Amino acid sequence: MRKVRPVDKLIITVAPTGAWPTKKDTPYVPLTPREIAEEVYRSWNAGAAIAHIHVRDDDGKPSMNFDKFREVVELVRQKCDIILNLTTSGGLVFDDETRMRPFTELKPEMASYDCGSMNWMHSSVFLNPPDFLEKLGKRMQEVGVKPEIEVFDTGMIYNSLYYLNRGILTPPLHYQFVMGAPGGIAATHKNLLHLVESIPGDSTWSVIGIGKNQLAMSVMALTMGGHVRVGMEDNVYLSKGVLAKSNQEFVEKIVRLAREVGREVATPDEAREILRLRKPSQQS
Ligand code: ZN
Repeated sequence: MRKVRPVDKLIITVAPTGAWPTKKDTPYVPLTPREIAEEVYRSWNAGAAIAHIHVRDDDGKPSMNFDKFREVVELVRQKCDIILNLTTSGGLVFDDETRMRPFTELKPEMASYDCGSMNWMHSSVFLNPPDFLEKLGKRMQEVGVKPEIEVFDTGMIYNSLYYLNRGILTPPLHYQFVMGAPGGIAATHKNLLHLVESIPGDSTWSVIGIGKNQLAMSVMALTMGGHVRVGMEDNVYLSKGVLAKSNQEFVEKIVRLAREVGREVATPDEAREILRLRKPSQQS
């Protein structure tokens, strides 16, 4: 039986921007490098240990522009010690090298590893073909970046085990379950339990509930010993009909809930230990 790890402190990831929310969805979504860095800093002050970063072009569209990533990374590193986790998707149209360049050159401690392809929002395809996943896993090992294995459906866990067996991923794995995205697994309690029971026993895991599912999945993870991601990439409402004015508010809400259920919140350094990230001194 898989051991629950209730002793781990809670790692809160903030995903302030994502690829999709626009200023029409919420005027509060940060889009420029300065806005993104400021929101990361506010979220770190509130208790976030990891920041998952996307950037936008000057029109606010999904982007993998290297200079924008560099600007965000530099600004955040000047302000705080939060763990940086750069996206490797950024949208649906970018080539492999464009997807890998930000983490290859900027060397964050983590980057996302979307462990399979899927139909996206009933309108397009999110491509992560086998040759890309092989290249991505090898490159992450070469540059010392820990993959955050994003799982949109149960089959992606078994895909990750294939790459683990081939040495393209190395243990212990860290999973991010994305639940409630159209085209992916539904955000139900039973499904989350099933996902957690399907991963290797020495893994760590975190959950994202998309939209109105964010709170229920977060609360379940708090009491199961898992970790939590919040932020405008996944959900723009703090409560029904109420837009969050800052990503910081999502983090504060999770910190309050964690306190109530007796779960301590991890600092970035504590998260580095839990996730066994390389030492910050090894950063270049
Ligand atoms: Zn993302």
